[in-house]
Amino acid sequence: MGIAILGGGLTGLTAAYYLAKKGHQVTIFEKEKTLGGLASGFKNNNWDWYLERTVHHLFANDDDILNFAKEIGFNKIFFKEPETASLYENPNDKIQISNQIQNLKSKFKILPLDTPLDLLKFPYLNIIDKLRAGIVIAFLKLSPFFSFYERQTAEEFLKKYLGKSGWERLFRELFRKKFGKYAGNILSSFIWARIKKRTKKLSYVEGGFQVLINYIVDELKSLRVNVLTSCEIREIKKKGERYFINSQLFDAVISTLPTPVLTKISEKIFPEDYLSRLKKVQYLHSLSLVLETERTILEKTYWLNISAKEIPIMGIFQQTNFIDKKYYGGKNISYLGWYVGTEDRLWKMEDKELLDYVKSYLNKIFNFQFSIFNYHVFRAPYTQPIFNKEFLKNKPEFVTPLKNFFIANLDMTYPYDRGTNYAVKLGKEVSKLIL
Ligand SMILES: Cc1cc2nc3c(=O)[nH]c(=O)nc-3n(C[C@H](O)[C@H](O)[C@H](O)COP(=O)(O)OP(=O)(O)OC[C@H]3O[C@@H](n4cnc5c(N)ncnc54)[C@H](O)[C@@H]3O)c2cc1C
Repeated sequence: MGIAILGGGLTGLTAAYYLAKKGHQVTIFEKEKTLGGLASGFKNNNWDWYLERTVHHLFANDDDILNFAKEIGFNKIFFKEPETASLYENPNDKIQISNQIQNLKSKFKILPLDTPLDLLKFPYLNIIDKLRAGIVIAFLKLSPFFSFYERQTAEEFLKKYLGKSGWERLFRELFRKKFGKYAGNILSSFIWARIKKRTKKLSYVEGGFQVLINYIVDELKSLRVNVLTSCEIREIKKKGERYFINSQLFDAVISTLPTPVLTKISEKIFPEDYLSRLKKVQYLHSLSLVLETERTILEKTYWLNISAKEIPIMGIFQQTNFIDKKYYGGKNISYLGWYVGTEDRLWKMEDKELLDYVKSYLNKIFNFQFSIFNYHVFRAPYTQPIFNKEFLKNKPEFVTPLKNFFIANLDMTYPYDRGTNYAVKLGKEVSKLIL
């Protein structure tokens, strides 16, 4: 069969691999110059390793991508246990923290919250609330998925079982930063999946994720997959039971594009009621600022959630506390990230304006001035589907009303948050639908 795969991210690349192995003639259409989509990387001239445009690591239980890498003979994935923590505002100056990290303004504290011991030492909850939190988190970690998690919002669930203080101190800000105005409607299935999935051990690809992507692309070329880059699809037409993609006819199509991009380019082929259902899914977009600094922003921590209400940044990831800075020309690399709507002023800011905005908040948190050598801003639309009740009714499935037209994209990782592991899983699963 002649198969068109729309989008050359990890979902598309994986689907292409399995379909080409079965002997199909596969063509990938990718609008960017490079392949890899959200997981693709860039490299300054003096860097040895690629860096992803938004922070990327794997969890130790990301078996689909780890097994796929093994299957194709890629063995450059390694594991580490970098420090993860949260930044809090001290609600009560009388509380003294013994392990205060230097260089932070006194109203802020960085506290790890990875282990039961961290929770026991957490200064902003009383012992009853800490025990409740420990029990709820352990329950979520051990529990299988229940439909019960879809019948209430995360806020309702967490307030009910953790109590008001537990919800406010441990989760409220994280939800607000991740989902903005939608935070109150996110289903508790999301928090179940988040806690279930998270592992202390994280992994990364030697050379950056782009090295794995390039390796897959080489495999595809040896399987005679036609890989077209800088090739944006603007419209899909139908002829009988076949599809015109950029004036070429195909027997089958797999779209890995964000759903709103697909609905726009396929208006002439899908029934209206199907399109209007897909259009009900809501999204936020991701904004990522990469800083190259002389000194490290975070002393030891790799992954810092910002639980402080007055700091409008979702998280700071000090890449060079995970990966040695020697691979990035000796500079300290950090990521700052947000999920925003198109109406959000951050989304509309010029790059330099965003940098100044961030600097002003870093100066509020830390006791020193940063010397920033270089910075990069990346914007990616439709990266965070809103997991609310509407989403359950309207999310796309692999199979569409059109014969041999399939969708596999990051809306389908629910209840898990999107990730390269699920991209590989979806690519493999959707390939099975074409015999
Ligand atoms: C902020 C952020 C942090 C993340 N962190 C991690 C992490 O730590 N670990 C992890 O495993 N995953 C992480 N992910 C998720 C991971 O990157 C994605 O889940 C995965 O890469 C998705 O792959 P995909 O192929 O489904 O989609 P994409 O990578 O989005 O691929 C779709 C492709 O379609 C192309 N395209 C779009 N429109 C058109 C068009 N009209 N014509 C042709 N091509 C088009 C795009 O350019 C893109 O290459 C993160 C994502 C974000 C946004």
